[in-house]
Amino acid sequence: MFTFEKLYSMGHEQVVFFSDPSCNLKAIIAIHNTTLGPALGGTRMWNYATIDEAIEDALRLSRGMTYKNAISGLHLGGGKAVIIGDPAKDKSEALFRSYGRFVESLNGRYITAEDVNTTVDDMEYIFSETNNVTGVAEINGGSGNPSPWTARGVFRGMEASCLKVFGDRSLKGKVVALQGAGSVGTHLGRHLYESGAKVLFTDMNEANIARFKEAVPNAEFVALNDIYDVKADIYAPCALGATINDQTIDRLKVKIVCGAANNQLAENRHGDMLKEKNILYAPDYLINAGGVMNVSIEFEGWNAEKATKMVDKIYDTTLKIFKLSEEQNIPVYKATDLMAEQRIQSIKNIRGKYLGNLAHRFPGRKSN
Ligand code: NAD
Repeated sequence: MFTFEKLYSMGHEQVVFFSDPSCNLKAIIAIHNTTLGPALGGTRMWNYATIDEAIEDALRLSRGMTYKNAISGLHLGGGKAVIIGDPAKDKSEALFRSYGRFVESLNGRYITAEDVNTTVDDMEYIFSETNNVTGVAEINGGSGNPSPWTARGVFRGMEASCLKVFGDRSLKGKVVALQGAGSVGTHLGRHLYESGAKVLFTDMNEANIARFKEAVPNAEFVALNDIYDVKADIYAPCALGATINDQTIDRLKVKIVCGAANNQLAENRHGDMLKEKNILYAPDYLINAGGVMNVSIEFEGWNAEKATKMVDKIYDTTLKIFKLSEEQNIPVYKATDLMAEQRIQSIKNIRGKYLGNLAHRFPGRKSN
């Protein structure tokens, strides 16, 4: 049940409910933390069974965005929105434009983007009512499909992991067990192929399997449930969250877990278990942040060179996290949270300093 105590304990600043019966809009925007800048996070559309489920999702996902944006070095806070409804039946121009007007009413405190069950076309409707939306089409100054950028970041995370475990960042000759041959998985497969790695992959979608085989000619298909048992150097979860769990963890024969999926650890204790088993876990919400890094530069004018430079930094940040994890003898997931929290706190601290210019507070008065 929704309580203010819950918001206090999770650290949220603001939760806003929007309704518009004319188009059956039921939306919740959760703004978790704006220390680093406006809260950015996507809008998810889902047929939640109860309002509590929708609130819970908005709270959990917006908090996750604070950490992701902070660890990625972005000048952005964390937020997320959910629209309650069936994406197959309830989408309309009016619904997204009405939602866009509500986003506009937050005056830039929240910036939205695509998420599960929302598309570039939906963002275009939102864009007709507010500028506070990213992930719009390239012809409108947007940054297009985020998946190639997400895959590039995951690949950089893999290189950092290889340096840590094998003493060489190259993937040449490494075997990667890749789960999920979707948008990110396929782009990642291409990077791996080009770098000389061998890919064992699984999926259940026939069209995606065929597309993957075309993109990665030497890839070998394995059955869905066998992906945890194969002999490989790296397990790359690129389909679902929580695949590191009590059922799978003892089956893994790899040295590294590094993939695009969100929330790969079913519970934090599985991160502790990976450390005990000497399996290096690449920080999931950093290495899959290439997509959000890419949309974050839409406001200053997107270009591929800027995006590349930003996403490639994932390599260095991943290494810094591994170092912190080793120095403090804590699992990688804890080191990642710690580094994100330290950045937020350090920026909060400098805000306490007086800037010596009152012009912004007294705009009517001329400064010397
Ligand atoms: P996608 O829907 O294009 O691909 C997912 C693929 O996984 C599909 O081919 C699907 O058939 C397959 N799949 C589903 N369940 C499976 C299972 N049990 N075993 C094997 N395969 C299974 O999604 P995507 O955009 O490629 O994203 C992949 C993952 O990365 C998701 O968890 C997503 O949340 C995360 N992610 C994506 C982005 C992005 O930019 N797209 C950014 C950050 C995180």
